[in-house]
Amino acid sequence: PAELPTAPTATTCPYCGVGCGVLAQPDRLGGATIAGDPEHPSNFGRLCSKGSALGETLSLEDRLLHPEIDGARTTWEAALDQVADGFRRTLETHGPGAIAIYLSGQLLTEDYYAANKLFKGFLGSANVDTNSRLCMSSSVAGHKRAFGTDTVPGVYRDLETADLLVFVGSNAAWCHPVLYQRMLAARASRGAKLVVIDPRGTATAEEADLHLPIRGGTDSALFSGLLATLADNGHVDGGYVAAHTQGFDAAIAQARAIAPDIATTAEICGLDVADVDAFFDLFGRTKRVVTLYSQGVNQAAQGTDKVGAIINCHLATGRIGREGMGPFSLTGQPNAMGGREVGGLANQLAAHMDFDVESIEKVRRFWNAPRMARAPGLKAVEMFDAIGRGEIKALWVMGTNPAASLPRADAVREALRALDLFVVSENVASNDTLGAGARIRLPAAAWGEKDGTVTNSERRISRQRPFLAPPGQTRPDWWAIAQVAKRLGFGEAFDWRTPGEVFREHAALSAFENNGTRDFDIGALSELDTRDYDRMKPIQWPARQGSVRTETRFFAKGGYFTPNRRARFVAVAPLARPAREPAFPLSLNTGRIRDHWHTMTRTGKSQRLSSHIAEPFVEIHPDDAAKANVVDGAFARVTSAHGAAVLRVRVEPGQRRGALFAPIHWTAETSSNGRVGALVHSVTDPFSGQPDAKATPAAIAPV
Ligand code: SF4
Repeated sequence: PAELPTAPTATTCPYCGVGCGVLAQPDRLGGATIAGDPEHPSNFGRLCSKGSALGETLSLEDRLLHPEIDGARTTWEAALDQVADGFRRTLETHGPGAIAIYLSGQLLTEDYYAANKLFKGFLGSANVDTNSRLCMSSSVAGHKRAFGTDTVPGVYRDLETADLLVFVGSNAAWCHPVLYQRMLAARASRGAKLVVIDPRGTATAEEADLHLPIRGGTDSALFSGLLATLADNGHVDGGYVAAHTQGFDAAIAQARAIAPDIATTAEICGLDVADVDAFFDLFGRTKRVVTLYSQGVNQAAQGTDKVGAIINCHLATGRIGREGMGPFSLTGQPNAMGGREVGGLANQLAAHMDFDVESIEKVRRFWNAPRMARAPGLKAVEMFDAIGRGEIKALWVMGTNPAASLPRADAVREALRALDLFVVSENVASNDTLGAGARIRLPAAAWGEKDGTVTNSERRISRQRPFLAPPGQTRPDWWAIAQVAKRLGFGEAFDWRTPGEVFREHAALSAFENNGTRDFDIGALSELDTRDYDRMKPIQWPARQGSVRTETRFFAKGGYFTPNRRARFVAVAPLARPAREPAFPLSLNTGRIRDHWHTMTRTGKSQRLSSHIAEPFVEIHPDDAAKANVVDGAFARVTSAHGAAVLRVRVEPGQRRGALFAPIHWTAETSSNGRVGALVHSVTDPFSGQPDAKATPAAIAPV
C-alpha cells in the first residue's frame, strides 16, 4: 500500500482453518500490536497462543528480500524472464506433462486462482497440486462421493448448539483452539457431551466425557459398527433416507459385514466393549450431534472411506445441515478451503468443477483459454515421484517446503536436484526446499504485507489485509504469476492490477453458467468495486446473485449435487491390514503441537511460542519404552524404511501400545536430526491421493 493505516487493520490469522479475525496496529518500527477482532464471526475477539503472538513474528530476519538466480541477487525482470523462458522451452520440448506447480494452503485465494488459470488454461497442464493434499484431500474426496460436490454442510454455530460433539482424529484443543474454546463455553452452558476418538490421550481427550483410544486406522470399522447399531436400534430416519439418499441397503449390508455388532467392533478397534456401547448409545439417542474430524481421519490409507463411514451415520439419521447436526471437516490450513474453491488440486478444474467435458468447455470459454488441460494432473506424491523419474522437468514451488513436509522427504529432496528448471517463491531465505537446488528464488510478500482473501472451515471468506509495507523487493504471488503469463504471451488474460480484480474474476467464474447444479457460487461478489472489496466483511458462501444470506447450511432438505440430487451412501471397503514388518514393529504417527505451525518459519521467531516445547520429541507408551530400552528424557533413534531421526523420548501413558508420536515442525534448518518427514512412508489413499502420515512402520532404539 502507498500509505500504511494508522488505525488497526482488520485482517485474518494466517495459521489454522478456524480463520480468526485479527486487528493489527502497526507500530511504525516494522512490528504491530495484535488483538482479536471482536466483530469477526469466527472468533468474536478471541485468539489462541499462536494468533496472539503474531506481532512477535514480523521481523525481517531470515526473509528473502530480493530475487536471486543461482545464488546471486538479480532483478525481478531478469528472474521472471528466466522463469517464462524455462517453462516455454520445457513445454516446447517435452509437452505439458513435464511442467508443474506446487502450491500451499498458506496462499491467498487470488494467488491460487492465478496459478490455476495459467497452468490449467494457458499452459495445458493440470499438474497443479498443493500441500493441502497432505491436509484435507480425503475430506474433499469424501464430500464429493457422498454429496456430489466438496461441500461442508454446516456452520460453526452448530458446534455450539450440538448436544453431542464427537471428535475423530482431531486434537482441536491444540490445533483449532479458538473454535474449541467456543465449543467448551457452549458446553458449559448447555451440558453438551464430548466424545473423543483418538489413539492418543491428547489435550482434547483429557476434557472428554468419553475417550475411545482407538487402534490407529480402524475408524471406518467403528463407524460401520455405529451404522449397523443405529439401524438395529431404530435410529434410522427412514423418511430422510427414502427421500434424499441412495445406496443405503448396500452400505448397511457392508457395515454389518465389517462390524456386525458392538463386541466385534470393539475387538477390531482395540476398545472396551462398554466404551463402544456407551458411544453408540449416546449417538443413537442424541439428536443434535456434530462429528468433527481432522488429520487423524484424512491422513490415512483409507481416509476417504473413514470420511464416508462418518457421513453415512449422519445421512442415515437425517442429522445433516440442521442446527446442531452434521459431519464437520476441520481444515488444517488458513486457506485450504479457498484453494479448493479455485480448483487448486490436480484433480479439480476450477470453482468446484471437475474434468468432465462440459466443465472443461465451460471454463475454456470463460477464460478464453488457448490450451486447456483436458485430464486431471498428478497429485502431490505422484508429482514428486514423477520429478524423481525425470518426467517432470520444470517446477514452481510456492509458499511451501515439500523437501521437509512430503513423505519420504529425503527422496523428495534428492529428486528436486535433478530438475531443469526449479523456481521457488518464498518468504524465507533458506529452507530444505531452497537448499535442494532452487535456481530461481522469488521473494514473496508475507502475512501483514499481502492483500487478498482466505476461506475458513465453515465456508467463510475473509479478507487478509496489509498493514506493513512489503519489504525489499517482495511482491504478491498472484502478481509474479501474472508477470510470467504476460511474458508467455497471455497478457490480456492476466492483466489484473489489484487482487480485487482477480477476486472478481474468480467470483464471476463461480457463477458462470451455474444454474444451481454447483454448490460453489459467489456471483454476488463479482461486482464488488475496489472500495467494496477493501471493505468486504467476512461472508459465507454460497453468495449467489440476488440471494445472500447471513448463515448458510446445506442439505437439511436434500438438494445434493449428484445427478439425481440424492446423497450417496458409501459401502466402505473392509479394513486393509498392513503387512507386519519385523524390523519396524511400531507405528509412527506424526502431527502438530500447540504452539508451532508447519515448519516454524513464523512461530519459530517467537520465544514465547518456542518455549512451550523447545525441541523435537517422540512419545512412546511405558511398556514399549521398557521393551526398547529407551528412557524418558534421553535421546532415541527412530527409524523407518525411508529415514531416521534422533528425538527426545517422552514416555507417555496416554500413548497407545505399539504406536509412536512425533511432531512435524522441525526441519534440516532447525534440527539436523529431527526431520520426521524423512521417515514417513508414501502410502496414499486410493481416492484422494492423501498420504498416510499416521501409520509408518517404524522402530526405536537408544542412541
Ligand atoms: Fe489463528 Fe487458528 Fe489460533 Fe484462530 S485458532 S488465532 S485462526 S491459529
